[in-house]
Amino acid sequence: MNKELADLLYPDVQYDIDYLEKKYPERNLPDGAEVCRFAPSPTGRMHMGNLFASFIPEVMAKQSNGVFILRVEDTDAKRAIENGVELILEDLEHYNYVVDEHPNKGGEYGPYIQTERAFIYHIVAKYLVSIGRAYPCFCTEEDLTEMRNIQEATKDRIGYYGHYAKCRNLSYDEVKKRIDNGDKWVLRLKSMGDFNKKFVFKDLVKGNIELPENDIDQVLVKSDGIPPYAFAHVCDDHFMRVTTVTRDDSYISSVPYHLELWDACGFKAPKFAHLLPLNKKEGEVIRKISKRKDPEAAVSFYHERGIPVEAIKLYFATVMNSNFEMWYLQNQDKSFRDFEFTFNKMSTSGALFDLEKLINISKNYLSRLKATEVFENLDIWTKEFDLEFNNLINKYKDYTINILNIEREQAKPRKDFSCYSEIKNSIWYMYDELFNNAELNYEWQKITDKEEIRTILNDYIDNYYDINDDKDTWFNKMKELCDKNGYCSNMKEYKENPDKYKGNIADISNVIRVAVTTKSMTPDLYEILKLLGKDKIKERFNRI
Ligand code: GLU
Ligand code: ZN
Repeated sequence: MNKELADLLYPDVQYDIDYLEKKYPERNLPDGAEVCRFAPSPTGRMHMGNLFASFIPEVMAKQSNGVFILRVEDTDAKRAIENGVELILEDLEHYNYVVDEHPNKGGEYGPYIQTERAFIYHIVAKYLVSIGRAYPCFCTEEDLTEMRNIQEATKDRIGYYGHYAKCRNLSYDEVKKRIDNGDKWVLRLKSMGDFNKKFVFKDLVKGNIELPENDIDQVLVKSDGIPPYAFAHVCDDHFMRVTTVTRDDSYISSVPYHLELWDACGFKAPKFAHLLPLNKKEGEVIRKISKRKDPEAAVSFYHERGIPVEAIKLYFATVMNSNFEMWYLQNQDKSFRDFEFTFNKMSTSGALFDLEKLINISKNYLSRLKATEVFENLDIWTKEFDLEFNNLINKYKDYTINILNIEREQAKPRKDFSCYSEIKNSIWYMYDELFNNAELNYEWQKITDKEEIRTILNDYIDNYYDINDDKDTWFNKMKELCDKNGYCSNMKEYKENPDKYKGNIADISNVIRVAVTTKSMTPDLYEILKLLGKDKIKERFNRI
Protein backbone atom coordinates (compact mmCIF):
# COMPACT_ATOMS: atom_id res chain seq x y z
CA MET A 1 0.00 0.00 0.00
CA ASN A 2 2.84 2.46 0.80
CA LYS A 3 4.50 1.67 -2.51
CA GLU A 4 1.24 2.27 -4.34
CA LEU A 5 0.80 5.55 -2.52
CA ALA A 6 4.36 6.55 -3.42
CA ASP A 7 3.69 5.88 -7.10
CA LEU A 8 0.43 7.74 -6.93
CA LEU A 9 2.08 10.83 -5.41
CA TYR A 10 5.28 10.78 -7.46
CA PRO A 11 4.43 9.03 -10.74
CA ASP A 12 7.29 10.76 -12.58
CA VAL A 13 10.04 9.88 -10.13
CA GLN A 14 11.87 6.90 -11.64
CA TYR A 15 14.98 6.79 -9.52
CA ASP A 16 15.45 5.55 -6.00
CA ILE A 17 17.73 6.34 -3.09
CA ASP A 18 20.33 3.84 -4.30
CA TYR A 19 20.69 5.80 -7.47
CA LEU A 20 21.47 8.93 -5.44
CA GLU A 21 23.86 7.07 -3.17
CA LYS A 22 25.82 6.03 -6.25
CA LYS A 23 25.59 9.37 -7.99
CA TYR A 24 26.92 11.16 -4.91
CA PRO A 25 29.26 8.62 -3.34
CA GLU A 26 31.21 9.03 -0.12
CA ARG A 27 34.08 11.40 -0.77
CA ASN A 28 37.54 10.05 -1.02
CA LEU A 29 39.29 12.33 1.47
CA PRO A 30 42.16 11.95 3.90
CA ASP A 31 41.36 10.91 7.47
CA GLY A 32 39.91 13.72 9.52
CA ALA A 33 39.06 15.86 6.49
CA GLU A 34 35.95 17.92 7.09
CA VAL A 35 33.38 18.78 4.46
CA CYS A 36 31.75 22.04 5.50
CA ARG A 37 29.39 24.37 3.82
CA PHE A 38 28.11 27.89 3.94
CA ALA A 39 24.43 27.87 3.02
CA PRO A 40 23.07 31.39 2.75
CA SER A 41 19.84 32.53 1.22
CA PRO A 42 20.52 34.83 -1.73
CA THR A 43 18.89 37.85 -0.16
CA GLY A 44 21.50 40.53 -0.78
CA ARG A 45 25.03 41.62 0.01
CA MET A 46 26.92 39.87 2.76
CA HIS A 47 27.38 41.61 6.06
CA MET A 48 29.86 41.01 8.85
CA GLY A 49 27.59 38.41 10.46
CA ASN A 50 27.52 36.29 7.27
CA LEU A 51 31.17 36.84 6.67
CA PHE A 52 32.01 35.53 10.12
CA ALA A 53 29.53 32.65 9.73
CA SER A 54 31.26 31.61 6.50
CA PHE A 55 34.77 32.12 7.88
CA ILE A 56 34.23 29.30 10.36
CA PRO A 57 33.33 26.42 7.98
CA GLU A 58 35.93 27.64 5.48
CA VAL A 59 38.68 27.53 8.09
CA MET A 60 37.57 24.15 9.46
CA ALA A 61 37.43 22.61 6.00
CA LYS A 62 40.75 24.03 4.88
CA GLN A 63 42.74 23.23 7.99
CA SER A 64 41.66 19.57 7.73
CA ASN A 65 42.40 19.32 4.00
CA GLY A 66 38.69 18.98 3.41
CA VAL A 67 36.16 20.67 1.18
CA PHE A 68 34.36 23.97 1.52
CA ILE A 69 31.06 24.30 -0.33
CA LEU A 70 28.84 27.27 -1.05
CA ARG A 71 25.26 26.07 -1.31
CA VAL A 72 22.61 28.64 -2.10
CA GLU A 73 19.33 28.13 -0.27
CA ASP A 74 16.81 29.86 -2.48
CA THR A 75 13.69 27.85 -1.69
CA ASP A 76 12.07 30.91 -0.17
CA ALA A 77 11.37 32.64 -3.47
CA LYS A 78 9.92 35.71 -1.79
CA ARG A 79 13.24 36.60 -0.20
CA ALA A 80 15.63 35.64 -3.00
CA ILE A 81 17.02 38.42 -5.19
CA GLU A 82 18.08 38.07 -8.79
CA ASN A 83 21.87 38.43 -8.65
CA GLY A 84 22.04 37.08 -5.10
CA VAL A 85 24.49 34.31 -5.96
CA GLU A 86 26.92 36.68 -7.66
CA LEU A 87 26.89 39.10 -4.75
CA ILE A 88 27.73 36.33 -2.28
CA LEU A 89 30.49 34.95 -4.47
CA GLU A 90 31.99 38.40 -5.00
CA ASP A 91 32.30 38.93 -1.27
CA LEU A 92 33.69 35.46 -0.59
CA GLU A 93 36.28 36.00 -3.30
CA HIS A 94 37.15 39.47 -2.08
CA TYR A 95 37.90 37.95 1.31
CA ASN A 96 40.00 35.21 -0.29
CA TYR A 97 37.84 32.38 0.94
CA VAL A 98 38.75 29.20 -0.87
CA VAL A 99 35.44 27.84 -2.12
CA ASP A 100 35.94 24.40 -3.64
CA GLU A 101 32.43 23.88 -4.94
CA HIS A 102 29.88 26.56 -5.71
CA PRO A 103 27.07 27.33 -8.17
CA ASN A 104 29.25 29.03 -10.77
CA LYS A 105 32.09 26.55 -10.55
CA GLY A 106 30.12 23.34 -10.16
CA GLY A 107 31.47 20.13 -8.71
CA GLU A 108 30.62 16.45 -8.45
CA TYR A 109 28.01 17.01 -5.77
CA GLY A 110 25.92 19.69 -7.47
CA PRO A 111 23.76 21.41 -8.38
CA TYR A 112 24.64 23.92 -5.67
CA ILE A 113 21.40 25.86 -5.79
CA GLN A 114 18.50 24.30 -3.96
CA THR A 115 15.76 25.07 -6.48
CA GLU A 116 17.80 23.10 -9.01
CA ARG A 117 17.85 20.07 -6.72
CA ALA A 118 14.11 19.33 -6.73
CA PHE A 119 14.70 15.96 -8.43
CA ILE A 120 16.76 14.85 -5.42
CA TYR A 121 14.15 15.97 -2.89
CA HIS A 122 11.43 14.15 -4.83
CA ILE A 123 13.37 10.90 -4.93
CA VAL A 124 13.87 11.02 -1.17
CA ALA A 125 10.26 12.12 -0.61
CA LYS A 126 8.99 9.19 -2.63
CA TYR A 127 11.23 6.88 -0.65
CA LEU A 128 9.82 8.17 2.64
CA VAL A 129 6.26 7.56 1.41
CA SER A 130 7.21 4.08 0.27
CA ILE A 131 8.43 3.12 3.74
CA GLY A 132 5.44 4.66 5.45
CA ARG A 133 7.25 7.68 6.93
CA ALA A 134 5.53 10.38 4.89
CA TYR A 135 1.99 11.06 3.77
CA PRO A 136 0.00 13.64 1.86
CA CYS A 137 -1.98 16.21 3.80
CA PHE A 138 -4.88 17.99 2.14
CA CYS A 139 -5.63 20.41 4.95
CA THR A 140 -6.38 23.93 3.76
CA GLU A 141 -5.20 27.16 5.38
CA GLU A 142 -8.63 27.37 7.02
CA ASP A 143 -8.35 23.84 8.40
CA LEU A 144 -4.98 24.68 9.93
CA THR A 145 -6.16 27.98 11.37
CA GLU A 146 -9.10 26.23 12.95
CA MET A 147 -6.76 23.63 14.42
CA ARG A 148 -4.56 26.36 15.88
CA ASN A 149 -7.54 28.18 17.34
CA ILE A 150 -8.66 25.04 19.12
CA GLN A 151 -5.15 24.45 20.42
CA GLU A 152 -4.93 28.01 21.70
CA ALA A 153 -8.36 27.86 23.32
CA THR A 154 -7.59 24.60 25.08
CA LYS A 155 -4.02 25.67 25.88
CA ASP A 156 -2.71 22.70 24.00
CA ARG A 157 0.65 22.58 22.25
CA ILE A 158 0.54 24.17 18.77
CA GLY A 159 1.25 21.95 15.77
CA TYR A 160 0.18 19.14 13.50
CA TYR A 161 0.61 16.09 15.72
CA GLY A 162 -1.26 13.27 17.46
CA HIS A 163 -5.01 13.40 16.96
CA TYR A 164 -4.68 16.83 15.28
CA ALA A 165 -2.89 15.14 12.38
CA LYS A 166 -6.11 14.52 10.49
CA CYS A 167 -4.61 13.27 7.26
CA ARG A 168 -2.26 10.79 8.87
CA ASN A 169 -4.48 7.80 8.31
CA LEU A 170 -6.27 8.58 5.07
CA SER A 171 -6.82 5.41 3.05
CA TYR A 172 -5.28 4.94 -0.36
CA ASP A 173 -8.70 5.28 -1.96
CA GLU A 174 -9.43 8.56 -0.19
CA VAL A 175 -6.07 9.97 -1.23
CA LYS A 176 -6.62 8.83 -4.81
CA LYS A 177 -10.06 10.38 -4.92
CA ARG A 178 -8.77 13.74 -3.73
CA ILE A 179 -5.81 13.71 -6.05
CA ASP A 180 -8.04 12.83 -9.00
CA ASN A 181 -10.18 15.70 -7.85
CA GLY A 182 -7.17 18.02 -8.21
CA ASP A 183 -7.00 18.88 -4.49
CA LYS A 184 -3.76 20.50 -3.36
CA TRP A 185 -1.57 18.58 -0.94
CA VAL A 186 1.67 18.89 0.98
CA LEU A 187 3.84 16.00 2.07
CA ARG A 188 4.24 15.53 5.81
CA LEU A 189 6.58 13.46 7.90
CA LYS A 190 4.90 10.69 9.85
CA SER A 191 6.63 11.35 13.15
CA MET A 192 7.33 8.45 15.48
CA GLY A 193 8.61 10.66 18.30
CA ASP A 194 7.24 11.12 21.79
CA PHE A 195 7.28 14.70 23.01
CA ASN A 196 7.44 13.55 26.61
CA LYS A 197 10.70 11.73 26.06
CA LYS A 198 14.01 13.53 26.17
CA PHE A 199 17.30 12.75 24.54
CA VAL A 200 20.78 14.22 24.69
CA PHE A 201 22.14 16.01 21.67
CA LYS A 202 25.86 16.65 21.41
CA ASP A 203 26.70 19.99 19.87
CA LEU A 204 30.31 20.74 18.97
CA VAL A 205 30.13 24.23 20.42
CA LYS A 206 27.57 23.99 23.18
CA GLY A 207 28.27 20.49 24.39
CA ASN A 208 25.45 18.21 25.52
CA ILE A 209 21.96 19.60 25.34
CA GLU A 210 18.81 17.83 26.52
CA LEU A 211 15.94 18.13 24.07
CA PRO A 212 12.43 16.65 23.79
CA GLU A 213 11.75 14.27 20.92
CA ASN A 214 9.86 15.63 17.95
CA ASP A 215 6.30 14.46 17.44
CA ILE A 216 5.13 17.02 14.90
CA ASP A 217 4.29 15.91 11.39
CA GLN A 218 6.11 18.79 9.74
CA VAL A 219 5.79 19.67 6.07
CA LEU A 220 8.52 18.00 4.02
CA VAL A 221 7.44 19.26 0.62
CA LYS A 222 5.11 22.14 -0.09
CA SER A 223 2.30 21.95 -2.64
CA ASP A 224 4.54 23.55 -5.28
CA GLY A 225 6.99 20.64 -4.94
CA ILE A 226 9.64 22.68 -3.14
CA PRO A 227 10.68 21.62 0.36
CA PRO A 228 11.17 24.05 3.24
CA TYR A 229 14.66 24.34 4.75
CA ALA A 230 14.60 21.27 7.00
CA PHE A 231 13.97 18.53 4.48
CA ALA A 232 16.11 20.24 1.83
CA HIS A 233 19.13 20.56 4.10
CA VAL A 234 18.95 16.92 5.16
CA CYS A 235 18.97 15.75 1.53
CA ASP A 236 21.66 18.26 0.59
CA ASP A 237 24.01 17.73 3.49
CA HIS A 238 23.72 13.98 3.07
CA PHE A 239 24.28 13.88 -0.68
CA MET A 240 26.98 16.54 -0.57
CA ARG A 241 28.59 14.34 2.07
CA VAL A 242 28.90 17.20 4.53
CA THR A 243 30.62 16.06 7.73
CA THR A 244 30.02 19.09 9.96
CA VAL A 245 27.09 21.43 9.73
CA THR A 246 27.80 24.93 11.03
CA ARG A 247 24.82 27.21 11.34
CA ASP A 248 23.12 29.81 13.46
CA ASP A 249 22.17 28.65 16.94
CA SER A 250 18.55 29.60 16.33
CA TYR A 251 18.29 26.18 14.66
CA ILE A 252 18.87 24.33 17.94
CA SER A 253 15.18 24.05 18.73
CA SER A 254 14.61 22.32 15.38
CA VAL A 255 17.30 19.74 16.01
CA PRO A 256 14.84 17.07 17.29
CA TYR A 257 12.88 17.30 14.07
CA HIS A 258 16.02 17.37 11.93
CA LEU A 259 17.47 14.32 13.65
CA GLU A 260 14.24 12.40 13.19
CA LEU A 261 14.42 13.26 9.50
CA TRP A 262 18.01 12.10 9.14
CA ASP A 263 17.00 8.89 10.80
CA ALA A 264 13.79 8.36 8.79
CA CYS A 265 15.74 8.80 5.55
CA GLY A 266 18.22 6.19 6.72
CA PHE A 267 21.07 8.71 6.61
CA LYS A 268 23.81 9.07 9.20
CA ALA A 269 23.55 12.54 10.70
CA PRO A 270 26.63 14.76 10.48
CA LYS A 271 28.18 16.61 13.40
CA PHE A 272 26.59 19.92 14.27
CA ALA A 273 28.13 23.16 15.46
CA HIS A 274 25.56 25.78 16.35
CA LEU A 275 27.20 29.17 16.19
CA LEU A 276 26.46 32.23 18.20
CA PRO A 277 25.92 35.34 16.17
CA LEU A 278 28.13 38.42 16.37
CA ASN A 279 26.47 40.61 18.91
CA LYS A 280 26.54 44.25 19.62
CA LYS A 281 26.11 46.02 22.92
CA GLU A 282 23.82 48.98 22.79
CA GLY A 283 23.53 50.55 26.20
CA GLU A 284 22.61 47.63 28.40
CA VAL A 285 21.05 45.62 25.59
CA ILE A 286 22.97 42.94 23.75
CA ARG A 287 21.60 42.15 20.32
CA LYS A 288 22.61 40.55 17.05
CA ILE A 289 24.65 42.84 14.80
CA SER A 290 22.23 44.20 12.24
CA LYS A 291 22.65 45.16 8.63
CA ARG A 292 19.90 47.72 9.04
CA LYS A 293 20.98 49.42 12.26
CA ASP A 294 24.79 49.19 12.28
CA PRO A 295 26.87 50.85 9.58
CA GLU A 296 29.87 48.78 10.70
CA ALA A 297 27.92 45.63 9.82
CA ALA A 298 28.25 46.35 6.11
CA VAL A 299 31.19 44.87 4.27
CA SER A 300 31.44 48.13 2.31
CA PHE A 301 32.24 50.00 5.54
CA TYR A 302 35.63 48.23 5.64
CA HIS A 303 36.21 48.37 1.92
CA GLU A 304 35.69 52.13 1.78
CA ARG A 305 38.04 52.72 4.67
CA GLY A 306 40.63 50.39 3.26
CA ILE A 307 40.79 48.08 6.25
CA PRO A 308 42.75 45.10 4.97
CA VAL A 309 40.88 41.87 4.41
CA GLU A 310 43.60 40.01 6.32
CA ALA A 311 43.06 42.18 9.39
CA ILE A 312 39.36 41.39 9.36
CA LYS A 313 40.15 37.70 9.12
CA LEU A 314 42.60 37.98 12.00
CA TYR A 315 39.82 39.60 13.97
CA PHE A 316 37.44 36.77 13.08
CA ALA A 317 40.08 34.26 14.18
CA THR A 318 40.37 36.11 17.49
CA VAL A 319 36.62 35.94 17.98
CA MET A 320 36.38 32.34 16.81
CA ASN A 321 38.81 30.80 19.28
CA SER A 322 39.61 32.25 22.68
CA ASN A 323 43.19 30.98 22.54
CA PHE A 324 44.02 32.44 19.14
CA GLU A 325 45.01 35.90 20.32
CA MET A 326 47.67 34.56 22.66
CA TRP A 327 49.04 32.25 20.00
CA TYR A 328 49.18 35.04 17.45
CA LEU A 329 51.07 37.32 19.80
CA GLN A 330 53.79 34.69 19.86
CA ASN A 331 53.54 33.89 16.16
CA GLN A 332 53.13 37.23 14.47
CA ASP A 333 54.97 36.14 11.36
CA LYS A 334 52.53 33.27 10.78
CA SER A 335 49.19 33.13 9.02
CA PHE A 336 45.99 32.41 10.93
CA ARG A 337 45.91 29.24 8.82
CA ASP A 338 48.78 27.87 10.90
CA PHE A 339 46.67 27.90 14.03
CA GLU A 340 44.61 24.85 14.88
CA PHE A 341 41.03 25.97 15.41
CA THR A 342 38.58 23.88 17.41
CA PHE A 343 34.87 24.21 17.99
CA ASN A 344 35.18 23.78 21.72
CA LYS A 345 37.23 26.96 22.00
CA MET A 346 34.34 28.97 20.63
CA SER A 347 32.40 31.24 22.90
CA THR A 348 29.16 29.69 24.12
CA SER A 349 27.75 33.00 25.23
CA GLY A 350 28.18 34.93 21.99
CA ALA A 351 30.87 37.31 20.86
CA LEU A 352 30.58 41.04 21.13
CA PHE A 353 31.58 42.74 17.93
CA ASP A 354 34.36 45.11 18.87
CA LEU A 355 35.24 47.57 16.13
CA GLU A 356 37.96 49.18 18.20
CA LYS A 357 39.69 45.85 18.59
CA LEU A 358 39.41 45.15 14.89
CA ILE A 359 41.00 48.53 14.14
CA ASN A 360 43.77 47.81 16.59
CA ILE A 361 44.46 44.47 14.93
CA SER A 362 44.52 46.24 11.60
CA LYS A 363 47.02 48.81 12.88
CA ASN A 364 49.33 46.07 14.09
CA TYR A 365 48.92 44.09 10.93
CA LEU A 366 49.77 47.08 8.72
CA SER A 367 52.80 47.93 10.82
CA ARG A 368 54.27 44.51 10.11
CA LEU A 369 53.89 44.59 6.33
CA LYS A 370 56.81 45.46 4.10
CA ALA A 371 56.73 48.98 2.71
CA THR A 372 56.38 47.56 -0.80
CA GLU A 373 53.32 45.57 0.28
CA VAL A 374 51.76 48.63 1.86
CA PHE A 375 52.46 50.49 -1.36
CA GLU A 376 50.80 47.84 -3.53
CA ASN A 377 47.68 47.77 -1.38
CA LEU A 378 47.61 51.54 -1.14
CA ASP A 379 47.84 51.65 -4.92
CA ILE A 380 44.79 49.37 -5.22
CA TRP A 381 42.79 51.26 -2.62
CA THR A 382 43.56 54.75 -3.96
CA LYS A 383 42.78 53.62 -7.51
CA GLU A 384 39.23 53.10 -6.33
CA PHE A 385 38.84 55.83 -3.75
CA ASP A 386 41.41 58.61 -4.27
CA LEU A 387 42.69 58.93 -7.82
CA GLU A 388 44.59 62.15 -7.16
CA PHE A 389 46.65 60.53 -4.44
CA ASN A 390 47.01 57.42 -6.58
CA ASN A 391 48.65 59.51 -9.32
CA LEU A 392 50.95 61.09 -6.82
CA ILE A 393 52.19 57.90 -5.21
CA ASN A 394 52.79 56.36 -8.60
CA LYS A 395 54.61 59.44 -9.89
CA TYR A 396 56.95 59.17 -6.90
CA LYS A 397 56.83 55.45 -6.37
CA ASP A 398 60.27 54.81 -4.85
CA TYR A 399 60.03 57.97 -2.79
CA THR A 400 56.64 56.84 -1.47
CA ILE A 401 57.94 53.40 -0.59
CA ASN A 402 60.79 55.06 1.29
CA ILE A 403 58.33 57.22 3.19
CA LEU A 404 56.27 54.16 4.07
CA ASN A 405 59.43 52.48 5.23
CA ILE A 406 60.29 55.06 7.90
CA GLU A 407 60.47 53.28 11.27
CA ARG A 408 59.01 50.16 9.72
CA GLU A 409 61.39 47.24 9.65
CA GLN A 410 62.33 47.23 13.29
CA ALA A 411 61.34 45.38 16.45
CA LYS A 412 58.69 47.93 17.37
CA PRO A 413 57.49 49.37 14.08
CA ARG A 414 55.53 52.61 13.97
CA LYS A 415 51.77 52.42 13.90
CA ASP A 416 50.59 55.57 12.23
CA PHE A 417 47.57 54.24 10.41
CA SER A 418 45.01 51.49 10.80
CA CYS A 419 43.73 51.50 7.23
CA TYR A 420 44.69 52.68 3.76
CA SER A 421 42.40 55.69 3.89
CA GLU A 422 44.45 57.12 6.78
CA ILE A 423 47.80 57.03 5.02
CA LYS A 424 47.43 60.22 3.03
CA ASN A 425 46.57 62.09 6.16
CA SER A 426 49.71 60.89 7.84
CA ILE A 427 52.24 61.50 5.04
CA TRP A 428 50.74 64.30 2.92
CA TYR A 429 53.44 66.80 3.88
CA MET A 430 56.06 64.72 2.12
CA TYR A 431 54.61 65.74 -1.28
CA ASP A 432 55.10 69.28 -2.56
CA GLU A 433 51.92 68.95 -4.59
CA LEU A 434 49.94 68.54 -1.37
CA PHE A 435 52.08 70.76 0.86
CA ASN A 436 52.01 73.73 -1.46
CA ASN A 437 48.25 73.57 -1.88
CA ALA A 438 47.35 73.03 1.72
CA GLU A 439 46.30 75.57 4.25
CA LEU A 440 49.26 75.26 6.56
CA ASN A 441 48.78 75.29 10.26
CA TYR A 442 52.19 75.25 11.94
CA GLU A 443 52.19 73.51 15.29
CA TRP A 444 55.04 75.49 16.91
CA GLN A 445 55.76 74.36 20.39
CA LYS A 446 58.10 76.14 22.81
CA ILE A 447 59.88 78.39 20.34
CA THR A 448 57.36 80.65 18.71
CA ASP A 449 59.30 83.80 17.97
CA LYS A 450 59.60 84.03 14.19
CA GLU A 451 63.00 85.77 14.28
CA GLU A 452 64.43 83.10 16.53
CA ILE A 453 62.91 80.37 14.37
CA ARG A 454 64.40 81.84 11.19
CA THR A 455 67.82 82.14 12.80
CA ILE A 456 67.81 78.46 13.74
CA LEU A 457 66.50 77.32 10.36
CA ASN A 458 68.97 79.35 8.37
CA ASP A 459 71.88 78.25 10.48
CA TYR A 460 70.81 74.63 10.04
CA ILE A 461 70.37 74.64 6.29
CA ASP A 462 73.40 76.82 5.54
CA ASN A 463 75.88 75.21 7.88
CA TYR A 464 74.77 71.74 8.86
CA TYR A 465 72.40 69.87 6.52
CA ASP A 466 74.03 67.27 4.31
CA ILE A 467 71.83 64.66 2.65
CA ASN A 468 74.63 62.11 2.86
CA ASP A 469 75.06 62.27 6.62
CA ASP A 470 74.40 59.09 8.52
CA LYS A 471 72.21 59.28 11.56
CA ASP A 472 74.99 59.75 14.09
CA THR A 473 76.62 62.51 12.13
CA TRP A 474 73.26 64.19 11.71
CA PHE A 475 72.59 64.01 15.40
CA ASN A 476 75.99 65.37 16.34
CA LYS A 477 75.43 68.28 14.03
CA MET A 478 72.07 68.94 15.65
CA LYS A 479 73.84 69.13 18.98
CA GLU A 480 76.33 71.62 17.62
CA LEU A 481 73.53 73.73 16.19
CA CYS A 482 71.90 73.57 19.57
CA ASP A 483 74.87 74.69 21.64
CA LYS A 484 75.84 77.37 19.17
CA ASN A 485 72.45 79.04 19.47
CA GLY A 486 72.26 78.96 23.26
CA TYR A 487 70.23 75.80 23.70
CA CYS A 488 71.37 72.79 25.67
CA SER A 489 72.24 69.60 23.78
CA ASN A 490 72.39 67.47 26.90
CA MET A 491 69.02 66.78 28.43
CA LYS A 492 70.38 65.86 31.81
CA GLU A 493 72.35 69.05 32.09
CA TYR A 494 69.38 71.00 30.90
CA LYS A 495 67.14 69.54 33.57
CA GLU A 496 69.62 70.48 36.26
CA ASN A 497 69.98 74.08 35.09
CA PRO A 498 67.08 75.00 32.86
CA ASP A 499 67.52 78.74 33.47
CA LYS A 500 70.97 78.74 31.94
CA TYR A 501 69.60 77.97 28.45
CA LYS A 502 67.04 79.24 25.97
CA GLY A 503 65.79 75.68 25.68
CA ASN A 504 67.01 72.22 24.76
CA ILE A 505 67.71 69.97 21.81
CA ALA A 506 64.10 68.82 21.60
CA ASP A 507 63.01 72.42 21.10
CA ILE A 508 65.52 72.86 18.30
CA SER A 509 64.52 69.70 16.47
CA ASN A 510 60.91 70.66 16.86
CA VAL A 511 61.45 73.93 15.09
CA ILE A 512 62.93 72.07 12.15
CA ARG A 513 60.25 69.38 12.25
CA VAL A 514 57.38 71.85 12.27
CA ALA A 515 58.99 74.01 9.60
CA VAL A 516 59.14 71.13 7.12
CA THR A 517 55.98 69.24 8.03
CA THR A 518 53.83 71.72 10.03
CA LYS A 519 53.36 68.85 12.49
CA SER A 520 54.81 68.62 15.98
CA MET A 521 54.59 64.84 15.93
CA THR A 522 56.04 62.93 13.01
CA PRO A 523 58.05 59.81 12.36
CA ASP A 524 61.82 60.02 12.53
CA LEU A 525 62.99 63.54 11.65
CA TYR A 526 66.35 62.39 10.31
CA GLU A 527 64.59 60.15 7.76
CA ILE A 528 62.16 62.87 6.77
CA LEU A 529 64.93 65.39 6.17
CA LYS A 530 66.96 62.89 4.21
CA LEU A 531 64.03 62.05 1.96
CA LEU A 532 62.98 65.65 1.40
CA GLY A 533 66.47 66.82 0.36
CA LYS A 534 68.04 70.24 0.57
CA ASP A 535 65.97 72.09 -2.06
CA LYS A 536 62.62 71.15 -0.61
CA ILE A 537 63.76 71.88 2.91
CA LYS A 538 65.05 75.28 1.90
CA GLU A 539 61.86 76.12 0.09
CA ARG A 540 59.82 75.20 3.14
CA PHE A 541 62.10 77.18 5.46
CA ASN A 542 61.65 80.19 3.24
CA ARG A 543 57.91 80.18 3.83
CA ILE A 544 58.38 80.92 7.49
N1 GLU B 1 19.77 29.02 4.62
C1 GLU B 1 19.94 28.91 6.03
C2 GLU B 1 20.15 30.28 6.60
O1 GLU B 1 20.55 31.18 5.86
C3 GLU B 1 21.15 28.05 6.30
C4 GLU B 1 21.14 27.26 7.51
C5 GLU B 1 22.25 26.21 7.43
O2 GLU B 1 23.41 26.60 7.28
O3 GLU B 1 21.93 25.03 7.48
O4 GLU B 1 19.93 30.50 7.75
ZN1 ZN C 1 -4.03 17.32 6.81
